[in-house]
Amino acid sequence: MSVSSAMSSLGGRAVEVPLIRCPHCRTRVKFYLSNTDTHEGWLFYKCINGPCGFWHWELEYIVYLVEHRFLNGNEAVDAIGAAEDRREQLLREREERARLAGIAAGIYDRRPSGSPMTKQQADALLCLGREMLLVLKAMMGSFLLLCVMFGISLLKK
Ligand SMILES: [Zn+2]
Repeated sequence: MSVSSAMSSLGGRAVEVPLIRCPHCRTRVKFYLSNTDTHEGWLFYKCINGPCGFWHWELEYIVYLVEHRFLNGNEAVDAIGAAEDRREQLLREREERARLAGIAAGIYDRRPSGSPMTKQQADALLCLGREMLLVLKAMMGSFLLLCVMFGISLLKK
């Protein structure tokens, strides 16, 4: 089997992450950098055959490689160690971003907390509720009327 590889580093030491052929469709797997809000900077490995659907985050991909014996012994230990380190770092970065975003939101959002609804809003909602009840009652009324009329028309026959 021919296997090309991506390089990742563990404390300066290079760890090879093999790019295997997709287990489903035999197309080459490639690696990408995520740029979504929740996973910014995360590496993932994906079959380039779109509809196939084989993909994993780096750590899960390496675990897959170890489980299927693409990586063995020290290579496997090093690769998992490096991926776990990077996962921890990415999670820390994400927490830090969330913390900073929270501070920024605090600066720009100075509404007093504790009274999420004003008296006027509450009254408006109550009023709306009453109106809906009236509509419901009117509908029930006309439904009953229909039933009665239907009943009468049956009796007449
Ligand atoms: Zn595939």
